[in-house]
Amino acid sequence: MTPHRIFATGLLLAAFTLPAFADPAAAIRARDRALADDTAWNIVQSLTSEIGPRPAGSDAAARARDWGLAEFKAMGFSNIHLEPFAKHAWLRGAESGEILTPYPHKLALIGLGLSVPTPSGGMTGEVLVFPSLADLQNAPADCCTGKIVLVNQPMTRTQDITGYGTAVAARSAAHEAAKHGAIAYLVRSISTASNRSPHAGAMQPWAPGEKPIPAAAIGVPDADAIAYLAKSGPVRVHLNLQSRFVDTTAWNVVGEIPGSDPGAGAIVIGGHLDSWDPGTGAIDDAAGIAITLAAARLVEHPKRTIRVVMWGSEETGGSGAAYLEAHKNELSSIAIAGESDLGADRVFSLQLPAGAWDNDDIKPLRAILAPLKVIPSTVPAEDGGSDVENIHAAGVPVLALNQDASRYFDYHHSADDTLAVVDPAQLRQNVAAWAATLDMLADSAADFRKGMK
Ligand SMILES: [Zn+2]
Repeated sequence: MTPHRIFATGLLLAAFTLPAFADPAAAIRARDRALADDTAWNIVQSLTSEIGPRPAGSDAAARARDWGLAEFKAMGFSNIHLEPFAKHAWLRGAESGEILTPYPHKLALIGLGLSVPTPSGGMTGEVLVFPSLADLQNAPADCCTGKIVLVNQPMTRTQDITGYGTAVAARSAAHEAAKHGAIAYLVRSISTASNRSPHAGAMQPWAPGEKPIPAAAIGVPDADAIAYLAKSGPVRVHLNLQSRFVDTTAWNVVGEIPGSDPGAGAIVIGGHLDSWDPGTGAIDDAAGIAITLAAARLVEHPKRTIRVVMWGSEETGGSGAAYLEAHKNELSSIAIAGESDLGADRVFSLQLPAGAWDNDDIKPLRAILAPLKVIPSTVPAEDGGSDVENIHAAGVPVLALNQDASRYFDYHHSADDTLAVVDPAQLRQNVAAWAATLDMLADSAADFRKGMK
């Protein structure tokens, strides 16, 4: 071979192996490696077993922060750092509840995040049952004076988030109950399960001028039992809900896979590190952290930087706002963002910003995702997850890898959110969908802001 021919071959090889734009073969490799890899499972197991429940502001949240730093390091991420922010944290104290009359027995109950406490000895009152939130809203203004309101509204099981979206307003209806004169508020757990585990979750914070009342969720069968008894006469319950607020610090924990082209911007992804306390936060949201970490690590030589954020306070709010505040002057360097925060079950569709599917760089992704049974949704992505909501509102495009949530709300925020309900095969599919998508987006030249409203 002449020197001239060697030179020409080298040029050809360089042109072939270093594509200017997204390389579908690399995305396919990332997808297939994910399907044979248990990295995500191991991460969920580690976080749930070694840290356990980790509400923002708790001692466990600080240990979770250190776990996050160590995990990034162990996985070979770069630019690992903490982004602290002030946190007015709600911490649960002792809690109990019981039916006193007509038939005494204990209630399965859990205080709602951001609730005020009862007096230290608890409180007693008669329960007024409303079959739905609308029934409470439409009731006369003085309907509930001196009473404990129960909204006993069942949640509908859906594949996507709409069942939850419809039901979750009842978790904040303490505001409505207080307006109607109630002294405390109980909600049937926002749950699709029939078991007795009460489901925690935050309520909307009290506004100045409102008269705060204590609020708790009770088990689905407990709510049905009270509703049944109330048909025949007064039901009196005793509630003891202790909690306090502390001013402390929370952290977003950040690591990066650096891109080869600093001018191409970053892709911001992640899951949230904080969790509710009855379970160990496996599907909410150790899974989101595991999926995005494992997927980012499978991307080969990205052109855009892939930045993984372990958000530090999703459940009671604050991490998305803190991220916007810290990065408000560099939002144009974020090409696109997304969060994994709907469990560990399979991805069924991918939503991208308007027009993105028509981009020549992105088009091959349809076929790459097809074997995973992931549909390219034609509905433009508007909800990338609650921790990227603030930067999205400030102009950052988002993506949504929509997960099958059919059984998610059986366990969400309850004692049953543990590793036991994570399906390893679906978790692998999830990582594969994220890895292939990230690989294509990281190498594409597409401007995702073009289609934004
Ligand atoms: Zn979550």
